[in-house]
Amino acid sequence: MSFLDKLHNGTPTLSFEFFPPKNPDGWSTLYQTLGNIARRNPDYVTVTYGAGGSTRRKTVDLVSRIQDELGIEAMAHLTCVGHSRDELTEILSSLQAAGIKYIMALRGDPPKGQTKFVAHECGFAYASDLIAFIKDHFDFHLGCSFYPETHPEAESPERDIEVLRLKQDSGADFAVSQIFFDNDTFYRFRDKAARMGVTLPLVAGILPVTSLAQLAPDGICQRSGTGVPQSLLDFLGTGDDIVDRGVQYAHRQCRDLLEHGVPGIHFYTLNRSPSSLRVTEALRADGYFPVPKLAAASR
Ligand SMILES: Cc1cc2nc3c(=O)[nH]c(=O)nc-3n(C[C@H](O)[C@H](O)[C@H](O)COP(=O)(O)OP(=O)(O)OC[C@H]3O[C@@H](n4cnc5c(N)ncnc54)[C@H](O)[C@@H]3O)c2cc1C
Repeated sequence: MSFLDKLHNGTPTLSFEFFPPKNPDGWSTLYQTLGNIARRNPDYVTVTYGAGGSTRRKTVDLVSRIQDELGIEAMAHLTCVGHSRDELTEILSSLQAAGIKYIMALRGDPPKGQTKFVAHECGFAYASDLIAFIKDHFDFHLGCSFYPETHPEAESPERDIEVLRLKQDSGADFAVSQIFFDNDTFYRFRDKAARMGVTLPLVAGILPVTSLAQLAPDGICQRSGTGVPQSLLDFLGTGDDIVDRGVQYAHRQCRDLLEHGVPGIHFYTLNRSPSSLRVTEALRADGYFPVPKLAAASR
């Protein structure tokens, strides 16, 4: 069964996100991580796309290798940043030629040093435009993003949900959330989106916290608009067991989400597997994400 079928029929999916490393050490860590993840039977993995096409070749190569060498369904992220339609057509053609079937279609963040997104004069201003373009010219299945706490540039929370609806109407097949730590925020968003006509499977994007720096004002979470609840900070504490506490928090968070019917859990791995895999194993012990018999035998 494809992961899209699972997302639509109530069988939760398990997926992991990676980014193309900048240096050789990063690549060896990544391949080790990917090997560990492959043995856990993920439904799919995704590979991010660097600002302004900085990882263009690497993203295409990495996605192809994951699919060909590890046999995992791999999805390439693609953004509008700095690209004309012709360049996007070239990239999409190379992904198609490599046998990739899934694209995470995004607007993208402005490149380093720029604060405002500026669309290429022959490109696209919004993810929904990219989605419509891909649907018109190619045969990919498409993922898109959503923001349980509202995208920082959105005109309003309601407008941000209308944007998600537009991505759905333009041809997206499912959506993956920005990192969040407060499940109630996610449930409120999901209910409101449903009332506003969103029927896409809404997959939860989860970060098992491994350091307090990730939660600082200039850390990965707050920079992307993710709220840091006091209850999370209290749970993590300031001791040297932060990694263990982060795993416990993410495990509880995922278990609650699965009990509340989320169609999939997507781990932001930051290219390191231990915490995501520990949460996965804990969820397996709870009875989620059963390993197919054949795969279990070959481990
Ligand atoms: C799952 C996920 C994966 C990501 N992967 C990457 C990656 O690989 N590379 C990368 O650079 N970044 C990535 N990002 C970050 C993302 O690129 C940024 O959050 C970016 O600022 C917005 O991209 P988007 O696709 O959500 O944009 P959009 O959906 O286009 O929205 C951008 C903003 O414009 C507003 N908007 C959209 N359409 C309209 C409209 N028609 N009228 C008025 N307002 C509108 C929205 O409300 C929002 O505020 C990812 C984010 C997520 C959640």
